[in-house]
Amino acid sequence: MTNRTHTKFIFITGGVLSSLGKGLAAASIGALLESRGLRITLQKLDPYINVDPGTMNPFQHGEVFVTDDGAETDLDLGHYERYTNARLTQLNNFTSGRIYHSVITKERRGDYLGKTVQVIPHVTDEIKHWIREVGTDVDVAIIEIGGTVGDIESLPFLEAIRQFRADVGKNNVCYIHLTLVPYIKTSGELKTKPTQHSVKELRSIGIQPDILLCRTERDLSEEIKGKIALFCNVPKDAVITAVDVESIYEVPLRFHDEGLDDRIVEVLNIWTRSPHLDQWRDLVHRIRHPECTVTICIVGKYIDLKESYKSLNEALAHGGIANNARVILEFVDSEDLEQDTPAAQQLFERLTVCDGILVPGGFGARGVEGKIRAVRFAREHKAPFFGICLGMQMAVIEFARHVGEMPHANSTEFNPSTPYPVIYLMTEWFNPQRNMTIVRTQQSDKGGTMRLGAYPCVLQEGSRAAEAYQTREISERHRHRYEFNNDFRDRLEACGMRFTGLSRDGQLVEIIELEDHPWFLGCQFHPEFKSRPMSAHPLFRAFIHAALQFQQNSKRVVA
Ligand code: GLN
Repeated sequence: MTNRTHTKFIFITGGVLSSLGKGLAAASIGALLESRGLRITLQKLDPYINVDPGTMNPFQHGEVFVTDDGAETDLDLGHYERYTNARLTQLNNFTSGRIYHSVITKERRGDYLGKTVQVIPHVTDEIKHWIREVGTDVDVAIIEIGGTVGDIESLPFLEAIRQFRADVGKNNVCYIHLTLVPYIKTSGELKTKPTQHSVKELRSIGIQPDILLCRTERDLSEEIKGKIALFCNVPKDAVITAVDVESIYEVPLRFHDEGLDDRIVEVLNIWTRSPHLDQWRDLVHRIRHPECTVTICIVGKYIDLKESYKSLNEALAHGGIANNARVILEFVDSEDLEQDTPAAQQLFERLTVCDGILVPGGFGARGVEGKIRAVRFAREHKAPFFGICLGMQMAVIEFARHVGEMPHANSTEFNPSTPYPVIYLMTEWFNPQRNMTIVRTQQSDKGGTMRLGAYPCVLQEGSRAAEAYQTREISERHRHRYEFNNDFRDRLEACGMRFTGLSRDGQLVEIIELEDHPWFLGCQFHPEFKSRPMSAHPLFRAFIHAALQFQQNSKRVVA
């Protein structure tokens, strides 16, 4: 097998334990290589058996990130898109489940011509095929292997990337291993043993890392770097300190200061210009020196696990950066707002001191009534309100019930026999990405029946949405089953609800706003997936701006 395209490949593995920030490391490496003028892409290989993370509980797996082409992917793809210009698709995230699914489909079709189908070579060949596939048309493909070295599940992926270097040639592959160098308080020392063991484990399966990223609380001394280099068989300048930082957007700069990008281009034998990092420096400066603070309350279900609203939290931070403000997030569990108890009352007090209220996306009936209460609070107190996907649906339901005089209005997701199904399931719906009509019922499979990925939306002139976007047509990403029910459009419009974003044919309601409110907007799509630190999403920029104005008008000062 030859490497016809001359693409270089970087493989990133992780050791010792999970959650060391492999995704951020991969994204930061992508940013550094782009700053040197290289065209890059990123791919995540996840060792679990689910075909995609779409059906996984956000409590377990964190957010499901959605790409333009409607792939439901690992949240690390969100980091990749936020840090780089790479536009990701189905090709950029594979799970073991998806690899096996494709191998088994081929086997059933008879493609293997009677051979015994085995992990090596059939599964590893399949993995290598998709790695090569993602590497067409770029200078460097950065491949992150999920999980931790030593897990049974990740072995086929590791074997595939081991073989890959022999396939494409030594100078075309760079192995980077992320490990932990813990600081032990009692002895006041940084410990290198876990790193040594993890590298030993990696070498036992035939992979000698070229570069080590050492996650640590404190800077690594030259002496420690020397020790790690000696025991792990890498040059000393290939031992990179990945020290904890205040903002995740500092990581590319820290890596650069440690010489990481120099080292990578050396291993891969690529000639590039020196990196242009002014944009990143400016970004970090703005994050470190905000002019003011603004508090946003997120009323949701998965509030205990920040990972479940990853892109949302980032998009709010970006909205802050664009307004020179630091955004403080307050999380309220919507279920707690449902009772009529003093505790719930106290939570409403917390809403009173917030500058804006956001109800994010979600699935399932739990906590829905609390979200509706939060919407009502925002509407009546004229506090800036931003409803995303389920959040928009909640806003429609709240308005129908309390302004439109439609008692028990609901979504058929939560009450199939509501007298006013203002949000409902379209039983027949054309999926343009798959070019087919999807027929679904309340009992349909959970996988494959959602409206997923990018859809165009036309904005109404003069609306807050149009003012924010400064354009008439936009494209945003979706991930939901239920839609606004047009049977109620006229009635709600007569009461003051505005439908300011519609599909091109005017049939699907994508954005709602309220008249007679400083900033009240709900959107059926997920704008958070397209926000970037250096160019905040227009709706998040506008929402934070409205929150700052609300703060000023009510003359409240936040400490
Ligand atoms: N549960 C709602 C639906 O399926 C909203 C989904 C979401 O917020 N992503 O339509």
